[in-house]
Amino acid sequence: MTRNFLAIGECMVEMAPTGEGTYRLGFAGDTLNTAWYTRRLLPDGWNVSYLTGVGRDSVSDEMLTFFEGAGIGTDLIQRFDDRTVGLYIIQLTDGERSFSYWRSDSAARQLARDGARLDAALAAADVIYFSGITLAILPKEQRGGFLEAVKAARTRGATIAFDPNLRPRLWEAVEIMCASVMEAAAVSDVVLPSFEDEATYFGDAGPMETVNRYTDAGAPLVIVKNGPGEVLWQVDGAPWTFQVPPVTEVVDTTAAGDSFNAAFLASHLQGADLETSVAAGARLAAQVIGRRGALVDLSQTV
Ligand code: ADP
Repeated sequence: MTRNFLAIGECMVEMAPTGEGTYRLGFAGDTLNTAWYTRRLLPDGWNVSYLTGVGRDSVSDEMLTFFEGAGIGTDLIQRFDDRTVGLYIIQLTDGERSFSYWRSDSAARQLARDGARLDAALAAADVIYFSGITLAILPKEQRGGFLEAVKAARTRGATIAFDPNLRPRLWEAVEIMCASVMEAAAVSDVVLPSFEDEATYFGDAGPMETVNRYTDAGAPLVIVKNGPGEVLWQVDGAPWTFQVPPVTEVVDTTAAGDSFNAAFLASHLQGADLETSVAAGARLAAQVIGRRGALVDLSQTV
């Protein structure tokens, strides 16, 4: 029987410097990165689809062609006449990367506008993956409805995975971000936070506080990533840790967390135990940070 993995969020056009004064056009975004790796890791018998909004212009066409080329389903993507996709440019100054974004009015922000359409999209999903960025880009008044739809899908039997991915610049205020993220955790089966962000915005003194906070909110499983540090989770009240493999040359940490989530989920969803799944997440993330860019061709690294 086919199972459906659905990632929800925003993919943007990425303009990355080639080092020769020109820019290479690509596509990336946190939830899309996870969908991209998940598609590579899950076997046949799983569909991986992306739910977002795009325009009707040619760059939107190109984005959909990119998804399809990666094996990611586009049937649920809504097209808007009056909008287009978001964009960011990476600039290199003395070897340091900085990012500029044009996404404040992107088509993806409309992905939850039509509640009936959203419910129908979620109805076919066995697994739903979204992030704090997914919530942040929605108009404030649509976030509650979005989480209600996710909750209804969970009640119906879907597994919900959520990465808080705290990005205060995308939110109206840090307090709103924190409150929304806790509401999202309450409708999730698996929460996949990164400790550094959680410590910064929630004031957690250690990764166990992060586990406890999301567990208390109602999430049965919380896997706390921590850069090169141990991954921490809890089973029946007992802590488990996994020391991630050391990476001697970190080239680019973009998508470390996104790729970790993909490999963790792909393993977990196929029934592997948690330690094996965490190890799979860390292994993939280690490969991804050893190369430039968010989407690393696994055939060249595995
Ligand atoms: P995010 O990219 O979301 O901030 P983290 O920094 O917590 O996420 O990293 C996610 C995962 O990537 C970690 O759990 C680890 O497996 C891997 N990772 C990140 N940085 C390093 C590093 N310096 N060395 C080894 N692994 C790392």
